[in-house]
Amino acid sequence: MKKNIIVVTISVIAVFTGVKGVGAAKSYIVEQKQIKIEKQKKAEEERIEAEKKRKEEEEKKKMIIGVNDEGKKYSYDALEVSKKLSSYDYSNNGEKIVFLTFDDGTSTTVTPEVLRILDEEDVKATFFLTGQNIERGGKESKKLIKEEFSRGHAIANHSYSHDYNKLYPGRKLDLEAFKSDFEKTDNMLKEVLGPYFSTRVIRCPGGHMSWQGMDHLDTYLEENNMASIDWNALNGDAEGRKKSAEELVNRAIETAKGKEMVVLLMHDTYGKEETAKALPQIIQYFKENGYEFKTLS
Ligand SMILES: [Zn+2]
Repeated sequence: MKKNIIVVTISVIAVFTGVKGVGAAKSYIVEQKQIKIEKQKKAEEERIEAEKKRKEEEEKKKMIIGVNDEGKKYSYDALEVSKKLSSYDYSNNGEKIVFLTFDDGTSTTVTPEVLRILDEEDVKATFFLTGQNIERGGKESKKLIKEEFSRGHAIANHSYSHDYNKLYPGRKLDLEAFKSDFEKTDNMLKEVLGPYFSTRVIRCPGGHMSWQGMDHLDTYLEENNMASIDWNALNGDAEGRKKSAEELVNRAIETAKGKEMVVLLMHDTYGKEETAKALPQIIQYFKENGYEFKTLS
């Protein structure tokens, strides 16, 4: 029946428009079909795109950046801190904050003691880990990283090798070597804390302030929303001769004095037992002087 109607319709059109009109009517039908197909195709593409976006959002929610959920309560925008440090601006609108930072860990000797004290004092810190030392500590070291993370401390990257000659040959940054060295530690952290873990906080071995050609690194960090954090106070546990706990306490206080925002450099690597011994008194100083303890993420 339908066919007949079409034939009749086309014939009628033909009568009025001549043979040329038949062709026009046919191409009109083809055109309509084409439009319908295009519309369906577009709707399908939109559906796929929306599904992709939804999946991406879901993945994003699973991402862990530097700290766990509890740790978020103590974390502070590392980019802000980085900017302040590089402009030597240690003010913080009248509010005192301190970032306890531990480099070159983990160690199976000092890290457990540092963790115990932080727990006892109920304060949080940021750990700048080096891949080589994670490797050195084996299983025990992986357990320690999990502990650091699960207790709400922040995890940051301090390279794999810590080798100045590799990262800054002739005192000048080798960006490719630098990136691949840090990536190695990143992958180790993913292995320990799961594939969704990443950190956007790094500390350059020897300090960002110490090397040439660092503007290339800055561009890279900016493009990737990452922050390099140096320090504006230190306990002195990595300079000159070995110091006693008392000397470390004094140096920390002396270098932090008068600063509203303090980023305190310490080390929890092998041989830094005095750092752990000095830690309770250092924490006491900041508590007594009204500082809040924050972490970098
Ligand atoms: Zn270091």
